[in-house]
Amino acid sequence: MTVLRPRDAAEAVALYAARPAALPLAGGTDLLVLWTTGALNGRTVLDLSGVKEWRSIRKTVTGLSIGSLATHAELRGDPAVRREFPLLAAAAAAVGAEQIQNRGTLGGNIANASPAGDAFPALAVYEAAVVAVSRKGQRSIPFCEFFAGVKKTNLAPGELIASVVLPYLETRPRRQLFRKVGTRAAMSISKTAAAGLLWVGPDRRVRELRFALGSMAPTVRRLRAAEGLVKGKRLGRELAAEACELLRRDVSPIEDARSTAEYRLHVSQNLLADFLLGTQGSH
Ligand SMILES: Cc1cc2nc3c(=O)[nH]c(=O)nc-3n(C[C@H](O)[C@H](O)[C@H](O)COP(=O)(O)OP(=O)(O)OC[C@H]3O[C@@H](n4cnc5c(N)ncnc54)[C@H](O)[C@@H]3O)c2cc1C
Repeated sequence: MTVLRPRDAAEAVALYAARPAALPLAGGTDLLVLWTTGALNGRTVLDLSGVKEWRSIRKTVTGLSIGSLATHAELRGDPAVRREFPLLAAAAAAVGAEQIQNRGTLGGNIANASPAGDAFPALAVYEAAVVAVSRKGQRSIPFCEFFAGVKKTNLAPGELIASVVLPYLETRPRRQLFRKVGTRAAMSISKTAAAGLLWVGPDRRVRELRFALGSMAPTVRRLRAAEGLVKGKRLGRELAAEACELLRRDVSPIEDARSTAEYRLHVSQNLLADFLLGTQGSH
């Protein structure tokens, strides 16, 4: 195996342009599982660990810019992430267990494009953007448009993830939720994962709902039909039930070793209903 070790972002981009078949390596928690099978034998690896610019978490005027090499442990503990984007901090704390959180990075999680990436529902409701760089320059990709399918992204050849930008919310939501449903508390791949933000007026009318589910389709999904239905309406049992019925329009859960499609759907509907009614944990 040939390993290339760039010392900064410019060198990483240049090396990747020259060797487009190279495999970027961040924390290695996904990639080294493949390495043990021999699947990487003979491949060239682009080790990004020396690219310090992509490690930092920076406040800008409009939002938070999180370097792709920030680890889940850093996200979990960062004061700005915890204050401004608590659902992302909660999601980072739910990834694997401490060892994986110490090595695994946000950029690696996103580039790996698993349907069960735990950071994804939070990034979807925060309307994050992925900043990709290549020899041709830099572009910003809306988070929900970043994925092309299971384990597939819309990164162009030669593009690396430099950072993820989360715009500040204009007002604090009345309610927020991150919930990962797995078989156990640590080291479990989610059966479903939900993130929600809800703004409600004093008259109990919904100003805005943002709700996203992971592990319920090939890629993370915002529940656009349910979000549209509740806008401007008064919260109540009937509205919550209608919103839950609409959930199927935006997701297509699979059956696999972890769960049946029916269970995934039922649990997700309960999470949405509880969130809208403010009765989290009643099921
Ligand atoms: C035991 C175990 C438990 C896990 N539990 C969870 C879990 O609960 N939830 C969860 O979401 N994930 C989980 N994972 C998966 C993994 O830990 C995360 O996805 C992690 O964030 C990957 O980051 P990494 O830096 O280790 O990526 P790497 O393994 O270094 O890379 C992953 C992929 O991303 C590409 N890549 C990395 N960085 C970049 C970049 N900057 N630009 C472009 N491409 C890049 C690599 O080429 C590779 O294809 C688990 C993994 C293991 C082994």
